[in-house]
Amino acid sequence: MSSKKPRYRRKTSLTPRRRRARRLERPEEKRRRARLVFSRLARAYPDARCSLDASTPLELLVATILSAQCTDARVNRVTPLLFSKYKTAADYARAPAGELERDIRQTGFFNSKARSLRLAGAVIAAEHAGRVPDTMEKLLKLPGVGRKTANVILGNAFGKNEGFVVDTHIGRLARRLAFTRETDPRKVENDLTAIVPRAKRTLAAHQLIFHGRQICHARKPLCEACPVEPLCPRIGVA
Ligand code: SF4
Repeated sequence: MSSKKPRYRRKTSLTPRRRRARRLERPEEKRRRARLVFSRLARAYPDARCSLDASTPLELLVATILSAQCTDARVNRVTPLLFSKYKTAADYARAPAGELERDIRQTGFFNSKARSLRLAGAVIAAEHAGRVPDTMEKLLKLPGVGRKTANVILGNAFGKNEGFVVDTHIGRLARRLAFTRETDPRKVENDLTAIVPRAKRTLAAHQLIFHGRQICHARKPLCEACPVEPLCPRIGVA
């Protein structure tokens, strides 16, 4: 009889967490995990909503254009005066040179933002009878409006869940949660729309933004206090 010890093959099955970390998750596993993540985020942030103050589609469009490279809180400090002064798309289109720039100066990049507001106002007044259009295709034709802004308007002003808003918070969280490996916002959006049901996309975006602001900070995420920690592979987090 041989004296050799029997050789056993090492068990190679991985725990769900390791599978996620190694990005071996199957699409249906990822969708299921996303469902659990968003249900935890819903409990953690029951008040998640758009943090830009606006009461009409035009006001939301203006606020979203102003929010580029600026905090929503700062935009909200500027817009009350702006909205009382410029009530229609045509008002922005014919704003005197220098005046609109002064009115939005605090939001930064005010020259290019003023240009976008004037041009978008002119197109809305001339081609859409003064009303902000409610389709992705038409919104994307407005000067200064990209997919992020268009998704914000569609979801929050018109209740249409067309795509998925991708800002810096959402891109960062989607990568840490291994919902995407992409950095290009359009590709991140594709990955998120593949795992979040259409009807939940606008709210899910707000939940991610709230979570990015309160817990999953860019520099030092508070993983020990995070409600989705058991479901997160923490990709890229030291
Ligand atoms: S566990 Fe950490 S990295 Fe993952 S979502 Fe929570 S805070 Fe962000």
